[in-house]
Amino acid sequence: MNRIENYNIKNIIGYSKDNFLVIHIEKRTIEVSGNLVMRMNNKYTLELTFEKAISLIRNEDLKKVKDGFYDGVASKKPIELDFYIYSGRWEQLCVSLKIKPFINKQEIVEYFYGYIHDISLERKAEESLKSLMEFDPLTKLPSTYYIKDYINEYLLYRKKDNFRGILLLINIDNFKVINDSFGYDQGNLLLVEVANQLLNIIEKEELISRYSGDEFIIFKPQINEIDEAKEVVNKIKSIFNKPFNIKGCNMYITASIGVAVFPENGDSFNDLLKSADLAMYRVKSNGKDGYELFDANMNPKTIDRVYLIQKELKNALLKEELYVVFQPKVVLDNSTVTGFEALIRWENNSLGFIGPSEFVSIAEDTRLIIPIGRFVLEEVFKKIKTLLNEGFDEFKVAVNFSEVQFRYGTIIDDFIEFSEKYKVSPQYIEVEITESILMKSFDDNINKLQAIRSLGATVALDDFGTGYSCLNYLTKLPIDVLKIDRSFVIDLLENYKSRCVVENIINLSHALGIDVVAEGVEEIEQVEYLKKVLCDIVQGYYFSKPKRFECAKKLLGKKL
Ligand code: C2E
Ligand code: MG
Ligand code: MG
Repeated sequence: MNRIENYNIKNIIGYSKDNFLVIHIEKRTIEVSGNLVMRMNNKYTLELTFEKAISLIRNEDLKKVKDGFYDGVASKKPIELDFYIYSGRWEQLCVSLKIKPFINKQEIVEYFYGYIHDISLERKAEESLKSLMEFDPLTKLPSTYYIKDYINEYLLYRKKDNFRGILLLINIDNFKVINDSFGYDQGNLLLVEVANQLLNIIEKEELISRYSGDEFIIFKPQINEIDEAKEVVNKIKSIFNKPFNIKGCNMYITASIGVAVFPENGDSFNDLLKSADLAMYRVKSNGKDGYELFDANMNPKTIDRVYLIQKELKNALLKEELYVVFQPKVVLDNSTVTGFEALIRWENNSLGFIGPSEFVSIAEDTRLIIPIGRFVLEEVFKKIKTLLNEGFDEFKVAVNFSEVQFRYGTIIDDFIEFSEKYKVSPQYIEVEITESILMKSFDDNINKLQAIRSLGATVALDDFGTGYSCLNYLTKLPIDVLKIDRSFVIDLLENYKSRCVVENIINLSHALGIDVVAEGVEEIEQVEYLKKVLCDIVQGYYFSKPKRFECAKKLLGKKL
């Protein structure tokens, strides 16, 4: 190659006019004169000796600049270089050099001309942006932008070695509720705490990153057995088994985890993430709090499913696709059915049957839950009217209310309206709420609950044990009934701790004059145990699944 042996640089940065920069080179000569750095509108005019020029260039960039010139001379092509120059004792300026060779008649590069810009400000901005992009400012975890390149390179490199690894996508369940209830500051503190704890459990070779608001990625570069995915999942889950203490408040949260294995489920970061996302989505639609490994049957279209559900749900009421089923509640004392819980059902032409655990949260997000909830309440009033007409008098029908209905709906007015329309007292209705209702606008919602109670309805706290579960609430809330969540009932017989919790909740509730319902009772042994510890009412498949009204009605007052 035609390199430095043939040329020496005369003026690396030399004579210039109107911000133009000329760099003279000359065979076998190094000496030049001049030593001026002049700033003009962000551009520099430099007249420097080679030594001076070289001495101005930051040491780390020297080789790059020299090589750039030698290549430019050899190839006779323009040179574009960014480098730092010392512009004072401590200050460094970043400059961008764009120069073209002047080729003389002998086909030799005689000099370069072009210009030099001060790009210090741009570079600073770029660098802070880059560090922003490399690190998530909130949790200080590497950003996905940063790990993405790393993972892609790694995957490329490992492709030929028959290596397997996993990518996990961890999504905190109901994070929106936490933000809505506690505020963003508290939500942010929770994210930082989750990040710190995740950081504590990962191994040296694993990578972690915050992917988006409430999502984290963990990348394990190598596994031998697929069971190792489960080990990572268990470690993650162990974090969520304990409450997060944020500013003295215990928060109980869960996470949905999707796992993708490479190379099977994708050989690039994006493909793996897509697979993990689909797996995570499957966990969400199965009721959250768990994990799934991606499998090929997880159609990418499921992602679109949310949008499809939103679209179809808008017309579901008009198209009369929604209906209500009734699950008997059984008094343990005498095994008699004393009432029901009304549960919404949806059968759509194109989507088929969709369970409430899938569509209720979508209805909440879009506030469609307000007309839907009103529909359920009216249905319940109608059915109570039928029961009263048939001579029943001692019963309650429980209706689920979402926090959104409390915040934006017209619950009290609806109660009054339907009560008058159907000539039915609200005393036959039990309003089921979850703890999330109490976090935001506590006083406002307490007032609403009290208003509902003054109309004659009772209030039950649903899913106790899954949310924030502060026993303190029990003393503060206007509630008549507490429903212990199915998750406690499931492992009642095997898990000593669950038994402790259940017994204590029952004792405390009774001391406060609150009745206790156990949800999701499926086995006779659970019934017997709950009877022994004086649980008042049970609800579950052991006695009956939710049924259409005509069937459920026949069970009222009967011994099961
Ligand atoms: P939830 O209020 O806790 O209702 C109990 C859920 O447990 C029901 O699920 C019921 O079918 C199910 N279940 C009852 N016994 C058993 C059992 O022994 N084993 C098992 N595995 N499950 C049992 P469903 O009907 O799918 O409803 C799910 C959730 O959707 C409800 O949980 C409630 O939060 C919500 N939901 C249902 N209907 C409405 C509604 O009209 N309005 C609102 N806002 N939410 C509703
Ligand atoms: Mg309920
Ligand atoms: Mg429940």
